[in-house]
Amino acid sequence: MTRSRLSRRNFAGAAIALGALHATGCASLSSGSRMAKTTALPVRGNYLIRNANVLTMDDSLGDIEHSDVHIRGGEILALGQGIEAPGVESIDGSGMIVLPGLIETHWHMWTSLLRGMTGDEAQRGYFPTSRGIGQFYTASDMYVAARFAAAEALHSGITFVHDWCHNVRGPEYAEADLRALASCGIRARFSYGIATAQANDRPIDTADMARLHASWDDFANEGLLSLGLAWRATEAGATGRMVPEVFRRDYEAARALGLPISVHASSNAGGAGDIAALNAAGLLGRHLQVIHGIAATPDEIQMLAASGTSLSLSPYSELRIGYGLPVTGELLAAGVPVGLSVDTTALSGNADLFAVMKVILNVENARSRNEFKLPPRRVLELATIEGARSMGIDDVVGSITPGKRADIIMVDSRSLNLGVHGEPGRMLVESAQPANVDTVMVDGRILKRGGTLTHLDVEAVVREAAGASAALLERANWT
Ligand SMILES: [Zn+2]
Repeated sequence: MTRSRLSRRNFAGAAIALGALHATGCASLSSGSRMAKTTALPVRGNYLIRNANVLTMDDSLGDIEHSDVHIRGGEILALGQGIEAPGVESIDGSGMIVLPGLIETHWHMWTSLLRGMTGDEAQRGYFPTSRGIGQFYTASDMYVAARFAAAEALHSGITFVHDWCHNVRGPEYAEADLRALASCGIRARFSYGIATAQANDRPIDTADMARLHASWDDFANEGLLSLGLAWRATEAGATGRMVPEVFRRDYEAARALGLPISVHASSNAGGAGDIAALNAAGLLGRHLQVIHGIAATPDEIQMLAASGTSLSLSPYSELRIGYGLPVTGELLAAGVPVGLSVDTTALSGNADLFAVMKVILNVENARSRNEFKLPPRRVLELATIEGARSMGIDDVVGSITPGKRADIIMVDSRSLNLGVHGEPGRMLVESAQPANVDTVMVDGRILKRGGTLTHLDVEAVVREAAGASAALLERANWT
């Protein structure tokens, strides 16, 4: 154990040195700063994707082979065969599966600097690690972490993220996170939460949340970003169970502003009864998203469905930390809107939502001992249109429907892991990987093209994340 800690520290030190070396040697960086240059977001063009295999994820439109998709000014204008439009830039869709951008529904993006750091003993598990190091974050670390995570999201075909930020250590922390999201051009909900390890009898900074809400036009990045509450409810936090007066106050503050609310509940056996308690207090509803719900009873699942409460599943963190198996089949049978999520790359390892889809399918079939329990198309819906519905944004994105905003990805099927062209929905769930995502468009802006991010310097983003992470470990004395 000591050995591995030493080697990690040495690695961290090497990362700092490498960051400094790059900073002095790279002309694109301003003098004295190790921040990568921020380039303006690409323009919203007039594009015609030609001759693609389009999975609209819109029930009324279905799949359309050899289809064109016309996008202008950020809006999907038309789709179908043989579209002619003057002045367009053509994008060859041959060999491509075109589908709506993937919708991610719960991700603590600030923890992206902690990848690979949760250890093999209780005091170095996920919660002690994230709380122990999280207290040493600066606002700059929040910026670097959110940018690192958002870049991985875009690379992976994710066009919407729910940034569940429970390390707001001051107003500048929230603002730095929001600036990072805006600089990447991704669509997102930013949910305002506590400072990690904050005492459970202390409310969040509701005055600052209200200030952000009142000046949201300054942060919304032309409507791409929205605000919500990352709520604690009754969960056991750093200093024991939450104090009811405090969690009611946080909740009421968000409701008074009309903000959506998200909460971890019935996450594992220790949280049994959470959802019933929320229901008894009259706190469920369409404005609320519950995360995990692994310990939800059949009655509690009915409470979610009856109230319109949505649920986010993050199988890779749930499996990795030992919460148990997602109850996907029961939730879908009851009609609960379900979305899929990354949660934290400190546990899930990466932001591969294709892998998340695959494990959701495979675990459900294994639980039910039924090869045919969960059709891949149903899982693809959870990552697109139903995920959007679970976040309340299905009127804007989640399907390739004329009139919606153009959040679209193109997956190149001409690769070793996709090359035999079977049923495309099945291929996306069972075979595809982020590396197969050729093109990513958010609000009509091309943010990935030919497999490369168009406006983010990946090498710089990774270098900055490594440097920030190593410096954090030093400050936290996390040896
Ligand atoms: Zn979480």
